[in-house]
Amino acid sequence: MADTLQWENTSLVREVERLSGTPVGACFQCHKCSTGCPVGPEMDLLSSQVMRMIHLGQEQELLESRGIWLCASCEACTTRCPMGIDVAAVMDTLRMMAVDRKAAIPDARGEKFNRSFLGSVRRHGRVFELGMLAFYKIRSGDLFSDVGKFPQMLAKGKISLLPKRSGAAKQVRDVFRRAEEEEKKR
Ligand code: SF4
Ligand code: SF4
Repeated sequence: MADTLQWENTSLVREVERLSGTPVGACFQCHKCSTGCPVGPEMDLLSSQVMRMIHLGQEQELLESRGIWLCASCEACTTRCPMGIDVAAVMDTLRMMAVDRKAAIPDARGEKFNRSFLGSVRRHGRVFELGMLAFYKIRSGDLFSDVGKFPQMLAKGKISLLPKRSGAAKQVRDVFRRAEEEEKKR
């Protein structure tokens, strides 16, 4: 991990570096990550702004931002960063911190989608879209907003009625179990 610059050596930088395992303090604000972000236009904070706010210790603003929940974990930012910073892992870490600290999440749908997605992966070893959507809709109360798309997606084979279990389902469950054990140690 690269050394954190002295003027950026806030406790928030150290904490996010520890949790994400990536050298947040090495960011020099080139903006390559945010210019390649597919959901950037919808975000209240771009990934490069997120990095700067970590440097400045602006924890509450970060944990209460909408952008960290809009992040699709596509890793385009991570691939583009010239400093080798895993920006997607930083976004993931901030979501985890927001839940842990019971931050006021401005639009809770992102957090509900996240939980539904991970629950599906945990159960089946991969995402089962229909089951994941059912859990998300129950959690969010947003039952009917896009049901019209369902027949088309079914016809095009984009969604299946039954889950396809991954051959690595046991290993995936082990990953979740180990993550929970690590979580308890923190
Ligand atoms: S991982 Fe998140 S922040 Fe990074 S490019 Fe993808 S959507 Fe944007
Ligand atoms: S691409 Fe890397 S160095 Fe550039 S702003 Fe983003 S995180 Fe910082």
